[in-house]
Amino acid sequence: MIPAAPLPMQPRRWQQAWREAVRDPRELLAMLGLEQAALQVSPAAAAQFPLRVPRGFVARMRRGDPHDPLLRQVLPLDEEMRPVAGFDFDAVGDGAARAGRGVIRKYRGRALLIATGSCAVHCRYCFRRHFPYAEETAAAAGWSEALATIRADASIDEVILSGGDPLSLATPKLAELTAALAGIAHVRRLRLHTRLPVVLPERIDAGLTTWLAALPWPVAVVLHANHANEFDAAVDAAMARLRDAGAALLNQAVLLRGVNDSVEALAALGERGFAAGVLPYYLHQLDRVAGAAHFDVPDARALALHAALRERQPGYLVPKLVREVAGDASKRPL
Ligand SMILES: *Cc1c(COP(=O)(O)O)cnc(C)c1O
Ligand code: SF4
Repeated sequence: MIPAAPLPMQPRRWQQAWREAVRDPRELLAMLGLEQAALQVSPAAAAQFPLRVPRGFVARMRRGDPHDPLLRQVLPLDEEMRPVAGFDFDAVGDGAARAGRGVIRKYRGRALLIATGSCAVHCRYCFRRHFPYAEETAAAAGWSEALATIRADASIDEVILSGGDPLSLATPKLAELTAALAGIAHVRRLRLHTRLPVVLPERIDAGLTTWLAALPWPVAVVLHANHANEFDAAVDAAMARLRDAGAALLNQAVLLRGVNDSVEALAALGERGFAAGVLPYYLHQLDRVAGAAHFDVPDARALALHAALRERQPGYLVPKLVREVAGDASKRPL
């Protein structure tokens, strides 16, 4: 066979879209026809955790609506800089559960790899906004430390790629990891936790689906969408490509005040996800991370919303309402 001529080095479409993400809060507000002053955008919050949002995601925001549920997830606001008791820097005990560089071992049978620190979008509520990514990624040193950790523990049968967002790594980098994992007999499942198919559906390109389809294990992709408006035709098409590649699609959402804290919003999220081939998995109570207190929904209200959702939705469209508690053996049902 004649090997195909190498293509000239061109950025892939998704990498281009990644680089063109909006990073200036003023530009974002101008695109939406909103005044900065009315929203109390915080330069200090933006300095701590910069704004980053792909243009395709901005296109799904409502023009002229300062309460848009997608905008609220990404806009750095003054409220973030207000210290609130009980909202700390390592909210979920990841520091203590570290099992080796880039590996977090909290639950039986599962090892979570911090594949990379990068994300295509910066979510203001993210519990990892203070995590020391740079020293912690499993991709450092060609995955060797993370692989050694997994190889040494035969109780690990599922490897979870997380981050950051694992799909922010280029496909060959992911392939390098899975090729090495394929040599570890006790690994039987692979899972990806990613927001990229939602915020940058271009990422689900032919190279990625070819890689996915060839993996030797059953694969689950856990998406992170918090609101029905995050889905559009491009996202639907990305989900279809993931399903065609054999992945089971689940969604986890975070319950966020001002974003999805109504039974209508939660029902719509489940229905819209299902239309795209995605089943709800978890609805997380917010991790109590510094800077995110204004998103918090009190437990009593969370339980009431969940009960109302259970009454009106089919069981398969009701996610499990959980909270992450440091030291627990699983996510804790509320
Ligand atoms: C959430 C999480 C998992 C996965 O838990 P599931 O209940 O299986 O979804 C695994 N490891 C860590 C460190 C986690 O935070
Ligand atoms: S890790 Fe997930 S929730 Fe956090 S900023 Fe990245 S995409 Fe958003």
